[in-house]
Amino acid sequence: MLTTTEYAICDTCAVVLVNDDYSGIDSEDLANVEAFASAHLVTHTGEYDPAGYWTCEACESVQIGTGHIFEMEA
Ligand SMILES: [Zn+2]
Repeated sequence: MLTTTEYAICDTCAVVLVNDDYSGIDSEDLANVEAFASAHLVTHTGEYDPAGYWTCEACESVQIGTGHIFEMEA
């Protein structure tokens, strides 16, 4: 049976995961985002709206507002 892992991802990192476009990533976050993108083959599945602060699981920056949910089957 497949299990699905969900990740909360910010707008900027969603562009990386969907389009492989790193141009919007801050240089201090680049290593984190590259490590996440190379380690996780994920699929965009929807919007993320936790109504508060949350941490992007790719760049590890604190976010406020909406983001994106990506899923990985393992
Ligand atoms: Zn991010």
